[in-house]
Amino acid sequence: MLLDSYKITRVLPCLADPEKIRVIVEISGEIHEAFPYLNATLKGCIYNHPANTLTIKKDGKLFTLHANHITLAKIEDEKEAEEILGWLKDLINETYEKRERIEPNYSMAAELKALDIFKLLPGTNCKRCREPSCLAFAVKLVGRDTEIAKCDPLFSEEYQEKRHVLLDLLHAAGHEVPGAYLESKEV
Ligand code: SF4
Repeated sequence: MLLDSYKITRVLPCLADPEKIRVIVEISGEIHEAFPYLNATLKGCIYNHPANTLTIKKDGKLFTLHANHITLAKIEDEKEAEEILGWLKDLINETYEKRERIEPNYSMAAELKALDIFKLLPGTNCKRCREPSCLAFAVKLVGRDTEIAKCDPLFSEEYQEKRHVLLDLLHAAGHEVPGAYLESKEV
């Protein structure tokens, strides 16, 4: 069994919806060997093979799997988080058990959408990134015509939580993110 046990270690407010939560989960062992098989069998995943991250979108929620921890976003409460974790545990273990019958997929199956990024930007349209609006910046970011470091305000303390989620998403999708973030991203 690849994923034997897990434990919720942090519960944070959700950024997109203040009535929802974001959950950090420590897991037993490492699960990244299952990622190319999950990427092959699930629709709409974002797989970053070099970074060992797989983001699953389901029912408007985001589950990001790392080698040794999991992040759940847009969650109602801890009860729902436990239900999702039970589902993820079965999914990971069953998919890994069937791996010899699955062609692994190492490609990034889905790109981020501009609106997903826009919701996590400061939203002030201050133009410090030299774009006319946050939405314009998000569109350029999706097209890889700019980089997240150009949004100075996002790196202030005020936007710490949004920044954390957005940099996680961008990193999982293979975008450039500041080196300092990579060094400090361990939970
Ligand atoms: S610098 Fe950031 S907050 Fe200001 S307009 Fe650009 S994306 Fe929006």
